[in-house]
Amino acid sequence: MKKFNNNNLKLAIQKEGRLTEETLSFLRRTGLEFESYQQRLFSSCRNFPLEILYLRDDDIPNYVSTGVVDLGIVGQNLLYEKREKVKKLLNLRFGFSSLIIAVPKDSPIKTLADLNGKRIATSYSNTSKSFFKKNNIQADLVQVRGSVEITPSIGIADAIIDLTSTGSTLILQDLRFLTKIYDSEAVLIANNAISTGKKILVNKLITRFKGVLSAKNYKYIFLNTEEKILPRLKKIIPGLGSQTISPLAQKGWVSVTCVVKEDIFWEIIERLKAKGVSRILVLPIEKMIL
Ligand code: ATP
Ligand code: MG
Repeated sequence: MKKFNNNNLKLAIQKEGRLTEETLSFLRRTGLEFESYQQRLFSSCRNFPLEILYLRDDDIPNYVSTGVVDLGIVGQNLLYEKREKVKKLLNLRFGFSSLIIAVPKDSPIKTLADLNGKRIATSYSNTSKSFFKKNNIQADLVQVRGSVEITPSIGIADAIIDLTSTGSTLILQDLRFLTKIYDSEAVLIANNAISTGKKILVNKLITRFKGVLSAKNYKYIFLNTEEKILPRLKKIIPGLGSQTISPLAQKGWVSVTCVVKEDIFWEIIERLKAKGVSRILVLPIEKMIL
């Protein structure tokens, strides 16, 4: 059986679940090349000294804290719940979800205080206990491993504490949102005592990860415009540094290229259109090294 090389970095990711697809696609976008097939246990990267291990997400924080692997990609929700001592290196901007409290639609529970004396089902018992302590709530926790959302309808709980991203499960199960405990996303975590040699590799990997993360937040814009309205356009486009302006064959016209932040992108496009700019070409940016 193939063994992995111990000098290589080891990164644990979820084997099969909600984070798997986006984790694999994120890793590929950072330029890492590796095989991944259904029955995989681990893969070695062809172009970076990295082994990828495929695990249940619940096991990842412990494997990272004990040094079985150097790095892991998991939801923050698991970090809050498992409380293993690991270092968070980066937020990865995918796997967004929220831990919420929900009750049946017609439940008399309207406020947090109404949870006193009630049965609350969850697979996040540590987080739930801390939340109740902080909010002075005395409730009975019903610990379940999965399918938390059906516990009220089968009569074993009055409320649930569970992860949701779109809220569609709540609607499906006739549940009503009561409050949010926290928001979560996928993060890159590391063992606290990585050797100096491996730290160099980790830093290289972080540079790659950040390159992809920054690029995701920006768009590359090309547009042609009359030179005389350029001063007005410059006020609209903040750009990254400065815009590039080149003359076009047609006299009095120029071409402008610039980089624009995703969150203000549509606003800028609308304002450009209002100034009469119509041919706007927008391209995604693959990587951005800042
Ligand atoms: P495993 O078999 O690896 O233990 P799991 O069933 O515990 O998997 P998944 O449901 O695949 O876990 O969720 C993995 C992670 O995806 C969650 O811990 C959370 O960080 C994230 N996530 C994103 N959206 C959601 C959602 N709607 N519900 C639950 N988790 C979500
Ligand atoms: Mg799990």
